[in-house]
Amino acid sequence: MKSNGRTGRVLSLILLGPPGAGKGTQARQLCSTLGIPHISTGDMLRSHTRAETKLGAEARSFMSAGELVPDRLVLAMVKERLSQPDTRGGCLLDGFPRSVPQAEALTGILEECGMPLTAALQLDLDDEAIVTRLKHRRSCPKCGRIYHLVSSPPRRPDLCDTDGFELVWRPDDRESVIRNRLQVYHQQTEPLIGLYQRLGKLGVINAGQAPGRVQADILTTLHQRTGSRFVAN
Ligand code: AMP
Repeated sequence: MKSNGRTGRVLSLILLGPPGAGKGTQARQLCSTLGIPHISTGDMLRSHTRAETKLGAEARSFMSAGELVPDRLVLAMVKERLSQPDTRGGCLLDGFPRSVPQAEALTGILEECGMPLTAALQLDLDDEAIVTRLKHRRSCPKCGRIYHLVSSPPRRPDLCDTDGFELVWRPDDRESVIRNRLQVYHQQTEPLIGLYQRLGKLGVINAGQAPGRVQADILTTLHQRTGSRFVAN
């Protein structure tokens, strides 16, 4: 087991929470602070659908309906990613696990890799706030930067401030699909909150605050759980 160069320890983290709670935005900032790779199963699956791989073709219809992609496909993808050397100093899993079977499989995978779970961080936000957020969410297909048309719009309409790419509105951010994604979250993913609480690994963060405040609360929670202090860069 290798320790992480920036924090001097292995951090295996899960970011839990409903779609639209800000997992992607928070994960990018946190990974930059902690020096660990950001593993987003949603991003990985979207690159498979864009590249028209076999996995992408199998996943597409589930994703556009807001359903979960079958566990066997997601687990094979995550197992392969966690076997890569850059994860030896830890990693942040964003959007995985999303079901009890995925969580059980993850425990086994992390044990095999010799990096047991440090913490599961839950971003907490209510459904109506999520629907409002997601309807206005746009993202850059190149760098993944996320905008909100009302609270954090791009400087030029529809163009990414970082690289000028045209922003996209994810097909699964339309209201009817959002409602289905929320239902799937409550049914299949929410039970993980109790599971990680019972394991003593859960930290709950109020995701209804400004992004900088949410990030500060995540770092405080990590400090409480690990005894190490992490400073945002
Ligand atoms: P996200 O970007 O995390 O909101 O994920 C977008 C979509 O990808 C989800 O609505 C699911 O269809 C699929 N997906 C992402 N992660 C998983 C996972 N761990 N298990 C099953 N499906 C997933």
